[in-house]
Amino acid sequence: ERQSNNFQFIDVGRADPDKKAIEIRKAEFVEIYEPYREQQVASQADRCLSCGNPYCEWKCPVHNYIPNWLKLVSEGNLFEAAELSHQTNTLPEVCGRVCPQDRLCEGACTLNDGFGAVTIGSTEKYIADTALAMGWRPDLSERVWTDKKVAVIGAGPAGLGCADVLVRAGVKPVVFDKYPEIGGLLTFGIPEFKLEKSVMARRRQVFEEMGIEFRLNTEVGKDISAQELMDEFDAVFLGMGTYTYMKGGFTGEDLPGVYDALPFLISNVNRNQGWEKDAADFIDVKGQRVVVLGGGDTAMDCNRTSIRQGAESVVCAYRRDEENMPGSRREVVNAKEEGVQFLYNRQPVAIVGGDKVEGVKVVTTQLGEPDENGRRRPEEIPGSEEIIPADVVLIAFGFRPSPPEWLANFKVDLNDWQGVVAPEEQTYKFQTSNEKVFAGGDMVRGSDLVVTAIWEGRQAAEGILDYLKV
Ligand code: FAD
Ligand code: SF4
Repeated sequence: ERQSNNFQFIDVGRADPDKKAIEIRKAEFVEIYEPYREQQVASQADRCLSCGNPYCEWKCPVHNYIPNWLKLVSEGNLFEAAELSHQTNTLPEVCGRVCPQDRLCEGACTLNDGFGAVTIGSTEKYIADTALAMGWRPDLSERVWTDKKVAVIGAGPAGLGCADVLVRAGVKPVVFDKYPEIGGLLTFGIPEFKLEKSVMARRRQVFEEMGIEFRLNTEVGKDISAQELMDEFDAVFLGMGTYTYMKGGFTGEDLPGVYDALPFLISNVNRNQGWEKDAADFIDVKGQRVVVLGGGDTAMDCNRTSIRQGAESVVCAYRRDEENMPGSRREVVNAKEEGVQFLYNRQPVAIVGGDKVEGVKVVTTQLGEPDENGRRRPEEIPGSEEIIPADVVLIAFGFRPSPPEWLANFKVDLNDWQGVVAPEEQTYKFQTSNEKVFAGGDMVRGSDLVVTAIWEGRQAAEGILDYLKV
């Protein structure tokens, strides 16, 4: 057994997994990080100081037992680390890949004080990837099946988080999704260079072995009625995400050559994976001058997908400065390395062109007083108008909830921005105004993160278990 060294962090610096060479990265839709090697992960995990009251755990939305599994993996106890990591997280290998760790767990690490945070995300990914590849499976030996069953609508992170907790408690989850694969935005949104599709395919197999049933290609409200689910199941969980695309509200948004981010990203995934139904759906930016509007994770994914498709140039225009970009810093760095040009403090005011898009008119902004959320509001500098030439414009301004109309038939209340009302702080966590219906993830909190959707799905499952008295 390895001897733990309390001062390991002085001798061993933070070392992220190696990235592939830029020229290779830019040409393929494949994850850019090499996996950790066993020795590497052990020495990196051993840098953890095991703080008495670990702040990283509080900042992690699912409150992972971080120092504990870091210690287990540093001692070579991989399967125990995997078991512990799955106690709090449904998709640790996904969170390890796509969480903005710099704002969450790693941002809270004591070693940020000049030494470099422990590589928590990469270690979490290593534990789950390696243990699953070696045949480890969640320990369900203590499970006792009940006679209860719950319909979960949406196989995104929220629905999967909910189903995971239910199935472990012996309640049968049946997960409905209109897509042919599970994962929600993990599969039909986030590109392969951040998360390869094989990751969710393997997870699906694990979930099915655990007893979760998936009914895919099934849209609730169309292929099966919500009433049938209400009649057949003891409770219903809604995890249907947010799919109304935000618009800029300026002229030219409907010109040919202007696309919403998500159809662009999905068409690319469908082409790569051989899931394409109609070749006309594919949005091809090869040889084009692409302008991406927005500064979040979706914008970064559009930027980097365009680079890989062989765009002539990719310019990302964002209305605030780099400091205030909402997405993960790691992905902004990756986008810059791959050749994306950033124009900060640029507010689009119109998309210009004749028969098709020719450019984006922007004004330069400076940051003014903080708004009600404490974020400084961009203000226009007079006379700063310019046109960024473009053949293709991708709009990544975010998403608003898109609740189905049938929710009204079941008296499920919505708030004034169309989010489903399902508070955490009540007798049955994440219960809606219909006592049999629970909800979580983006459709409750608005577009956010994979890890927060997982948390809400898991918490809602606890609410359901209390409600069903199991
Ligand atoms: P979703 O993932 O949207 O899943 C909802 C599911 O419900 C879908 O599969 C949908 O088909 C299904 N559904 C909806 N209506 C019905 C119906 N009537 N019947 C059947 N099924 C239905 N977060 C991060 O943490 N890190 C990132 O790097 C990151 N990158 C992102 C990149 C992009 C391009 C986008 C769009 C988002 C990104 N996010 C990222 C955000 C993250 O993906 C979401 O917050 C998260 O997926 C929300 O999970 P969810 O389960 O609430 O919804
Ligand atoms: Fe960090 Fe996300 Fe893992 Fe939590 S789930 S430890 S925030 S990478």
